[in-house]
Amino acid sequence: MNIAVIGTGYVGLVSGTCLAEVGNNVICVDIDEEKVEQMQEGVVPIYEPHLEELFHKNIQAERLEFTTDLKYALDNSLVIFLALPTPQDEDGSADLQHVKNVAHKIGKKISAYKIIINKSTVPVGTSEMVKKIIASYAKVDFDVASNPEFLREGFAVHDFMNPERIIIGSTSNQAIDTLKNLYRPFTSIKRPVIVMDEKSAELTKYAANTFLATKISFMNEVANLCEIIGSNVEDIRKGIGSDSRIGNKFLYPGIGYGGSCFPKDVNALVYSSDEAGYDFKILKSVIDVNKVQKTSMIPKVKKYLNNDLKGKRIGIWGLSFKPNTDDIREAPSIDVINELLLNDVEVLAYDPEAMHNMYKLYGGKVIFCENAYDALTNVDCLIINTEWREFYSPDFFRMKNLMKNAAIFDGRNVFDLNLMKENKFHYESVGRKVIKNA
Ligand code: NAD
Repeated sequence: MNIAVIGTGYVGLVSGTCLAEVGNNVICVDIDEEKVEQMQEGVVPIYEPHLEELFHKNIQAERLEFTTDLKYALDNSLVIFLALPTPQDEDGSADLQHVKNVAHKIGKKISAYKIIINKSTVPVGTSEMVKKIIASYAKVDFDVASNPEFLREGFAVHDFMNPERIIIGSTSNQAIDTLKNLYRPFTSIKRPVIVMDEKSAELTKYAANTFLATKISFMNEVANLCEIIGSNVEDIRKGIGSDSRIGNKFLYPGIGYGGSCFPKDVNALVYSSDEAGYDFKILKSVIDVNKVQKTSMIPKVKKYLNNDLKGKRIGIWGLSFKPNTDDIREAPSIDVINELLLNDVEVLAYDPEAMHNMYKLYGGKVIFCENAYDALTNVDCLIINTEWREFYSPDFFRMKNLMKNAAIFDGRNVFDLNLMKENKFHYESVGRKVIKNA
């Protein structure tokens, strides 16, 4: 099949490459000329495991090409995927300027029947809006369908190739059949293809992401209660996670969710609900809980340092919003560092991948260290923000020798409590008892 993918970010480039891998001819379009030039020269602009290999293979097979020329892409394809950014606007709503902009262009440029499929995360009613915009110009038939994407950064190729389900939002038989055929190589092993109307498909994506964010905030509230009444949240996590009705994923307590999707999608659904006249109380609480949770280590640190942070020196391990990415968007580490800097703390930070991005934000205000140990030199305590693997088994003896106080405030429950006791650290984590050895 001949396909165009408009927008070549995490979703677009991965979708386009994977669709080419199963034999389709794919033209990827982007407005960013530098990015397109890079891709034409064989450079993959993002990091995703296994992407590079498939990218080169399909360019060589002449099934994958890159252009800024939308008209060329439209003329040479039947199916047009939109994988455009839908960032958060100032009021919390999803900013649809990129989607609208492309819809206008498509309307003006199509000269034969096309199926336009939206993969971006968009509020309910966007398919309808796109249809209206295109119809205001187009002199030919076309269909618009919703096909939300569920891939995860860091696992994007794997997730696209092995989707747990495909959601098709459309009432056009031609669009539904075309999409079913297109996804057959990925769904043949009993992966469900679920067909519904466009509005339901659009809401399915928001419902999925906000439900996951709710799970995280729920567990964080359980953890906060544990700290007061003396239960251990990690035991509770295992206890409830073994119940198949609940499931064991997304139950990890910590210092809150971040990243480029959950925060914006929760805000966008609250905004859409308010607009529709519905007060989505749970999601408002999810946002509130997450906001407080992000800096929940600070009062603990303050108390340990006799309520006086001024002039203290604190080490930070982990800056990215989750491990295995250099993405710092909405990362809890930003809230933590801001709060420390406000209190005149000298901050030493280390992250395996995200330091270049953090440097853009803080420059010389933070001391960026070569390795995890350097971030411990003469510090009053350590705060852990991200559960990178390399943090799990450090040399505790070396750590203690470097630190002024052997005190760890662990926002991701990286360490075992007994280990902390044996190694005589003062150790505070999330939803577990405080170890007061040091
Ligand atoms: P991204 O920012 O990585 O990429 C978007 C691309 O679109 C960029 O390359 C940009 O230059 C291009 N673009 C912008 N305007 C354009 C235009 N007018 N014409 C052509 N190209 C244009 O975004 P992303 O992470 O791939 O996300 C895209 C959508 O998918 C968003 O709605 C997001 O919420 C959703 N989504 C993202 C993920 C994820 O993990 N990143 C997962 C599922 C869904």
